[in-house]
Amino acid sequence: MNHYEVIVIGAGVAGIYQIKRLADLGIEAAVLEAGSDLGGTWYWNRYPGARFDSESYTYGYSFSRELLDEWHWRERFSGQPENLRYLNHVADKFGLRKYMQFNCRVEAAHYDEAQNLWRLRAGDGREFTCRFVILALGLLSVPTLPRLEGMESFRGRSFHTFHWPHEPVEMACKRVAVVGTGATGIQVIGEIADKVGDLTVFQRRPNWSAPLNNGPISDAEMADIRGRYDEIFATCARTPGGFEHEPDRRGFYEVTREERLALWDRLYDEPGFGIWLRNFREIFTDEQANAEFSEYIADRIRRRVKDPKVAEKLIPRDHGFGVQRVPMETRYFEAYNRPNVHLVDISETPIVRVTETGLRTSERDYEFDIIVYATGFDAITGAFDKIDIRGVGGEALADKWRTTISTFLGVTIHGFPNMLMPAGPQSGSASTNYPRGIETGVDWCTALLEHMRTKGYTRAEATASAEKRWTDHVTKMYAMMLMRKAKSWFTGYNSNVPGHEQGTIRYLVYNGGAPKYVNAIDAVAAKDYEGLVLSADRGAAPTGSQPVVAT
Ligand code: NAP
Repeated sequence: MNHYEVIVIGAGVAGIYQIKRLADLGIEAAVLEAGSDLGGTWYWNRYPGARFDSESYTYGYSFSRELLDEWHWRERFSGQPENLRYLNHVADKFGLRKYMQFNCRVEAAHYDEAQNLWRLRAGDGREFTCRFVILALGLLSVPTLPRLEGMESFRGRSFHTFHWPHEPVEMACKRVAVVGTGATGIQVIGEIADKVGDLTVFQRRPNWSAPLNNGPISDAEMADIRGRYDEIFATCARTPGGFEHEPDRRGFYEVTREERLALWDRLYDEPGFGIWLRNFREIFTDEQANAEFSEYIADRIRRRVKDPKVAEKLIPRDHGFGVQRVPMETRYFEAYNRPNVHLVDISETPIVRVTETGLRTSERDYEFDIIVYATGFDAITGAFDKIDIRGVGGEALADKWRTTISTFLGVTIHGFPNMLMPAGPQSGSASTNYPRGIETGVDWCTALLEHMRTKGYTRAEATASAEKRWTDHVTKMYAMMLMRKAKSWFTGYNSNVPGHEQGTIRYLVYNGGAPKYVNAIDAVAAKDYEGLVLSADRGAAPTGSQPVVAT
């Protein structure tokens, strides 16, 4: 039996920073990671075109001046290989790898009330105990495939983008299918269209998308960025999305249509999420404002796609721009002007099965060498559901969350003491530039552990009433946002997961923006963790264990 004071599950962006903070405090801790190496999202998603949609220099960790000064981001929106190199560099620089155990997929985490311990079991039978378990599982780490007949019968190669092979995939002259046109599909399609023999895109619903406008970062620009890091992170901290992009404070209806068009023309050509987040705030809340802006983007699509019929198919009809997370694209719409790229609208002619040689729709058979499923994730709670998590009295988390998700601050859960989530459901992370949200969550969890150590507490549990208050607040925030109407992972929709396909809203994301979220969790900490019951009355380290807290 391996005992640690803290076990972190997951060695992605959150797990890496969490173990750094624990190591700095001298807390006996380990990271258990299912993959064969660190990196999380950037370890798994190796598909062509995978890259940040956050400006690289706002995505990196902010905790070390030395790290900021030595790392040169080469592109404004850096690609997967470089991002993985960065995370490896961080782990090596700070000596974090020694805390990590790879190929260790935790399958069960049970709270032992008598001992005030968590008992963890990995897939290979290894067992661990810890006083605190920190779930850094990732928001989008459980890929989902369509439930199609015949998937196993396909004789070519097929994979979900999340499981893109580590070795290069030969695609030249190949007939390739991409199923799915979310942020991932849109990145893949833009990247491979001119590299494959033939590409057929199977689109169920189009997504609103706008140009990423990526570019290199020169030495001089990087030097300038280094000089401005304090300012950059301060801006991220005061914007709702945790980006450099600040909303236009003028009222949508206070300016003329010409002024609106001038703003949109400028934003469309600017890099990154500006088109979404530098826009008028009414885009997110007001149907009419959203419709006018959506029509503007529809026109941009029509101007880029030569075949008017194809252009119309690429324009979403069931939701407005920005009410789902906006995919950022590079040459995406132009891909459809190529003679080797074909669009199949599977809302009209659904895929009925996978065959030995390809895909069959209600209309005809298609033959492929490779089928790429860019079909999304069992988002946010999927990774929790994969672990048999049991709290006080053996209550299963999956049962507690079956009808409604409820947490306190997105960080803790009533009935699950000493279990922390630096980027959990209902935290600020999903709706924020992810690492900015993660640093907030990790810092908060670490401060709680420090507080408990100082005061001699060994047990922390959210009260039922605090949890209810937070969950009501999160739910209320959805009421203000148009996004509540969209079928997307922000509202817990996934047609491939039983129970999540009906479009019933699951309140997974805190929508109040990063500054409000930080205020809320800081206020709890400032009031001696009001809403948590902290106690020292139960539990002891198991006999023969290592010290609970290194001194
Ligand atoms: P997604 O947004 O959920 O998109 C999945 C796509 O697959 C949708 O077009 C969906 O169609 C389609 N689909 C799902 N099941 C299907 C089925 N059974 N048959 C046919 N089509 C099916 O997933 P994603 O594209 O992987 O993106 C998820 C999130 O990952 C993004 O929102 C973003 O937060 C993150 N991401 C970020 C980046 C980045 O630039 N940093 C890149 C990629 C992803 P429907 O719309 O009809 O359901």
